[in-house]
Amino acid sequence: MEAAVRPHRILIAEDDGVLRSLIGQVLTADGYSIEAASDGREAKEFLGHGNFSILLLDIGLPLIDGWAILADSARDTRPAIIVISARGDERDKVRALDLGADDYLTKPFGAQELLARIRAVLRRIDEGAGTGVVETGSLRIDLARRSVHRRGVEVRLSPTEWLLLAELAGRAGEVVDPRTLLRNVWGSQYIGDRNYLRTFILRLRRKLEEDPVHPACIETVGKQGYRLSIVQERNSLTMR
Ligand code: CA
Repeated sequence: MEAAVRPHRILIAEDDGVLRSLIGQVLTADGYSIEAASDGREAKEFLGHGNFSILLLDIGLPLIDGWAILADSARDTRPAIIVISARGDERDKVRALDLGADDYLTKPFGAQELLARIRAVLRRIDEGAGTGVVETGSLRIDLARRSVHRRGVEVRLSPTEWLLLAELAGRAGEVVDPRTLLRNVWGSQYIGDRNYLRTFILRLRRKLEEDPVHPACIETVGKQGYRLSIVQERNSLTMR
């Protein structure tokens, strides 16, 4: 007999009451369990208690805005975050991804689009595991346990950061081209969207490299793509 699967919990942080209840109806009808917050403070309260898979985060929220919530929640384990914003500016999108969002959806959007983005993010959370352990420089990447340690200290990664690292680690030493990474991590509709890839490579380097400006582990290989170096650290002269 199959064990009952608990539905994914999604927190909707949106101050527009009509949109909030519309999103709630769409998600409930699709089988998700939802909570809704109408301002940033309420959203933070929910995040402090609830165990959510996804946060749908409006940027323009009263009391505490979406930028502040993003900046705060990037520090620790947290739900995957899909930003929903009326601002379609490319700079906002990059900023949101840079602050730790997993995806960015510009209003207005359709119900099917929203559900597709949610499924894509959940797939990233559930998949991405391989087997084996990859060691490079001061990093130890355990694909089965989905963990990465730097000098023995565990580094927390968002679901998307992990999936990107796992793609590179699964082919350590090989150059992986951007289109393959975009397709495998974000989905085939993202193949042309190099901003996602660049932003997440930077995020990984900041978390994992001794010197993010001169990366030793996650290398850029010309225009061909990225490579997780498998060169071992030779001595302990590296800057700390
Ligand atoms: Ca708003």
